[in-house]
Amino acid sequence: MKNEYIPFTIGKQKRIALIAHDGKKHDLINWCEENKEILQKHFLCGTGTTARLIAEQTGLPVKGYNSGPLGGDQQIGAKIVEGGIDLVVFFSDPLEAQPHDPDVKALLRIAQVYDIPMANNKSTADFIITSSYMNTEYVHEVINFNKNIEGRVKSML
Ligand code: PGA
Repeated sequence: MKNEYIPFTIGKQKRIALIAHDGKKHDLINWCEENKEILQKHFLCGTGTTARLIAEQTGLPVKGYNSGPLGGDQQIGAKIVEGGIDLVVFFSDPLEAQPHDPDVKALLRIAQVYDIPMANNKSTADFIITSSYMNTEYVHEVINFNKNIEGRVKSML
């Protein structure tokens, strides 16, 4: 199908979502503190508890959504779909069961669909934050949802 993907530009100033499960919150707060100089050049948001803790403990401005188990991950997923988030740093806890595991999986999936860079551990976050793309625009190919709907509707007729 022609035009199956369309180019999208991630701006120089990134809209970054920050999320950490309880067992990883301190790690993410420390990571934000370590990278404060870089992070303060971008727009930050996050799930409720994570956002509040980072803001209080590092002084960085972080817009808070609902708490993760109350739909915060889904809100961030919806923002990705709307084109409102450029990068996700999500320190998930692989050793602790989460009541909102389906929401976590949904967020991982939607970030993949929209080709959004996402760090799930500190080393990946370190690689991303030191990438030259943090200081430049980045053009990526994202699925053309209008074309996709058109094709699906035609196939149902
Ligand atoms: P929280 O949510 O920041 O409100 O704790 C994070 C999560 O568990 O997804």
